[in-house]
Amino acid sequence: MESFDHIIVGAGTAGCVIASRLIAAGSRRILLLEAGGSDRRFWVRLPIGYGRTFTDPRVNWMFEGEPDAGLAGRRGYVPRGKILGGSGSINAMVYVRGMPHDYDDWRNLGNPGWGFDDVRPYFELAEQRIQRTDISPFAHLLTARGSRAVSASDCHRARILTALHQRASASIASRRAMACASRLPRAICAPCKRLPI
Ligand SMILES: Cc1cc2nc3c(=O)[nH]c(=O)nc-3n(C[C@H](O)[C@H](O)[C@H](O)COP(=O)(O)OP(=O)(O)OC[C@H]3O[C@@H](n4cnc5c(N)ncnc54)[C@H](O)[C@@H]3O)c2cc1C
Repeated sequence: MESFDHIIVGAGTAGCVIASRLIAAGSRRILLLEAGGSDRRFWVRLPIGYGRTFTDPRVNWMFEGEPDAGLAGRRGYVPRGKILGGSGSINAMVYVRGMPHDYDDWRNLGNPGWGFDDVRPYFELAEQRIQRTDISPFAHLLTARGSRAVSASDCHRARILTALHQRASASIASRRAMACASRLPRAICAPCKRLPI
């Protein structure tokens, strides 16, 4: 019987990174098991292919959540990658570190080591800046050490898009809030009222 130094179940985002790190650290025999098939597919290689793979059972487990009281008892759709690369092969390729205060909240709730200053060095280890540094006030936070290619976002364009999005949300929210108030139970109206009307 063959033997291995390490067996990894699931060749998704985490599984592939672990395999790659183990190889870099000198492990010779690694078994990486994956339930899905090859990622050599047209709609996986094409960034916009996300729209197709979102509901393709050949590459997507297409799970359904349990009925959710917060959704008036409905089930949410939970896509998950069933393919080499896992959900990372069918995702939207958006990269954000997350909000610093969220990490700090987790640390303050009793999780030492999860504050933003604790996790930031790991983001920096993973990231490699690939383009303009002059367009974002956050550009200096990106380093060039890691293998993940990231670019600073264009804050000016982001501000325009955010302003347009807020205006659209406000208009939809006020219409929804009026419709909700007349037709739906108060619990369902509540989220609408939290939007910037
Ligand atoms: C549609 C979609 C869009 C997303 N967009 C973004 C985005 O834009 N930005 C972002 O940061 N994140 C995004 N995500 C989330 C991100 O892709 C996931 O959080 C991340 O890939 C999860 O990594 P993972 O290793 O935990 O799991 P996965 O990458 O899902 O890997 C799990 C792997 O295990 C395999 N597996 C399961 N059971 C078995 C078994 N019994 N035997 C063998 N193999 C098994 C699965 O087939 C899968 O390949 C998105 C996710 C989805 C589904």
